[in-house]
Amino acid sequence: MAQVKISIVGAGSAVFSLRLISDICKTKSLAGSFVTLMDVNETRLDDAYELAYQYARDMKADIQFEKTTDLEKAISDADFVINTALVGGHDFLENMRKIGEKHGYYRGIDTQEFNMVSDYYTLTNWNQLSFFLKIANMMEKLSPNAWLLQAANPVFEGTTLISRKSKIKMVGFCHGHYALNNIIDALNLEKEKIDWQVAGFNHAIWLTRFQYKGKDAYPILNEWIEKHPNGNPPKNPFDDQLSPAAIDIYHFYGKMPIGDTVRNSSWKYHYDLETKKKWYGEPWGGADSKLGWKWYEDKLNDITTLTSKSAELLRKNKNIKLSEALSANFSIIPADFANEVKNFYDPSTLSGEQHIPFIDAIVNDHSNRFIVNTLNNGVISGIPDDVAVEIPAIVDKDGIHPEEISPSLPERIVKWYLYPRMMRMEWALEAFEKRNPDLIIEILLRDPRTRSYEQAKAVVDDILSSPFNQEMKKH
Ligand code: NAD
Repeated sequence: MAQVKISIVGAGSAVFSLRLISDICKTKSLAGSFVTLMDVNETRLDDAYELAYQYARDMKADIQFEKTTDLEKAISDADFVINTALVGGHDFLENMRKIGEKHGYYRGIDTQEFNMVSDYYTLTNWNQLSFFLKIANMMEKLSPNAWLLQAANPVFEGTTLISRKSKIKMVGFCHGHYALNNIIDALNLEKEKIDWQVAGFNHAIWLTRFQYKGKDAYPILNEWIEKHPNGNPPKNPFDDQLSPAAIDIYHFYGKMPIGDTVRNSSWKYHYDLETKKKWYGEPWGGADSKLGWKWYEDKLNDITTLTSKSAELLRKNKNIKLSEALSANFSIIPADFANEVKNFYDPSTLSGEQHIPFIDAIVNDHSNRFIVNTLNNGVISGIPDDVAVEIPAIVDKDGIHPEEISPSLPERIVKWYLYPRMMRMEWALEAFEKRNPDLIIEILLRDPRTRSYEQAKAVVDDILSSPFNQEMKKH
């Protein structure tokens, strides 16, 4: 049993807070550990702290919490820093999107071929990328032996940037690969009998190995597709793993795209709302249409409201349990999230986020398999060593041991998907590092939505004049 200091930066994050805290409290081999919750938004921080404290009490977990708005304090002497912060929040993303749309860039300029995910900004996100480096630099001074666990997006650009610029140990995480379960369920397969691998970049992963009971399982998938040529209709905007887009991408590239990769496709599927509806299903047209993204933002707001109302109830009634405070407010949130919250109280189920099991693997040598983002260093052939790849790896007290990718990625995927996505990452990082907005204009000149140089220059000028971007403009 090891006692460590884990700091969560951006602890008010609606998506991550409750999941990470419940995982820490349920991992008995981390008992006695100390968790620092850090956020710049004091209201969200207070609420997250109240819930964490009460949850640990309900679960009789031996975990101590502190809260702070001071990043240095959070990072000092930490063993693990988990970054879930979104600098500027969803308001910033919406503002940038609005400016882009004003200049004729549907869904904003950060929406690029192979990167359509609506909170994965690489061109206007100076604030977020520089925050990543700020954390890494601070860790070098204040906790040089600590691990940085990167959850905040963009994970691909972020993991590559930090790993190139800093000596700290780091790993990037995404939960996208769990969408493989949707395929397993649709094909009615027994999970324990499947041997699988995914490989690529974050939000760009492919089912390279898919075996069932020792035999290739792709023929079973092909049979399912023959019976369901239009895939499955979506239950929600994110339910796209067996959408017409996923099937079409599979047919072109030869392997199944997994998780967010289905969203990160070419313009063929994204020109406008009607096109998105055709490929990702009615009524939303996938997660990254205006309708689909509103669905997601509404859900995030519901979770934040649930957190704040439950925290308020706990402050007023010192004797009630967190489970009671949460269930008193269940009417605010969608049923699927209410079920997830109920699972927080099942000591045998973890949230599915990889961060806390990863920490457990490192500190307690509880060796386990993870899907990690880490520098390639020869794992995917044809990709430079200093580019972050998303791959399966065994993790133990000695660190990350990548699996050999076998069979390897088809040439079609490497040349037609990974190379162009990688170049977009390189261009965005060069624009950021050289602090050169002309490079963003150059990127936009390669964008099918651009009709003239003047249009590209005007949108970049407008973005730089936004009050949200004064730091970026200064630099
Ligand atoms: P959110 O806005 O709900 O939460 C982000 C938190 O960061 C807020 O509480 C905010 O106050 C805080 N914050 C902002 N600036 C900060 C700073 N300078 N220092 C400390 N805290 C700061 O956002 P969200 O929807 O929870 O998303 C958070 C991040 O996680 C985003 O980048 C999102 O894209 C990413 N994400 C990653 C995955 C994954 O699997 N890796 C999945 C979903 C979301």
